[in-house]
Amino acid sequence: MAGMRISVFCPHCHRHTSLEPARVEVQHRNETFFVEAVWKESCESKWWIGVCNFCGGPLLVRNAATTVYPHPLPQPTDKNVPDHICRDLDEAKQCFAVSAWRAAAVMARRAMLLRSAPNGVRTAFSLRVPWRVVVDRAAVAA
Ligand SMILES: [Zn+2]
Repeated sequence: MAGMRISVFCPHCHRHTSLEPARVEVQHRNETFFVEAVWKESCESKWWIGVCNFCGGPLLVRNAATTVYPHPLPQPTDKNVPDHICRDLDEAKQCFAVSAWRAAAVMARRAMLLRSAPNGVRTAFSLRVPWRVVVDRAAVAA
């Protein structure tokens, strides 16, 4: 991992940042060394501990960030989106990021319902309406 810099959206500080490999202290024959925290899983796969350059939070990283734990958070919703919609949209993105597909769909639908309220089509987007109908009506309302 020497020289490798990976850019992620840090789940700790919620910023785009790069990761540095963590340095592990090793003592051998009364001497102290620092080595990178890397575990070679196979010839093609290495896991390493990355440290966020901004907040110092740790992340477990596989190769060039093909897998990162905790999952990097999705980017926050644009600040121009009203808060009450933004919260549901952010939660939908977070559910999607951790493969909670049904929860993501429910939260995305809720965000669409809130989005439609100022347009006077709230009743048309009741939770009892089938999803396909909601999507079609949202396309018409947009
Ligand atoms: Zn961070």
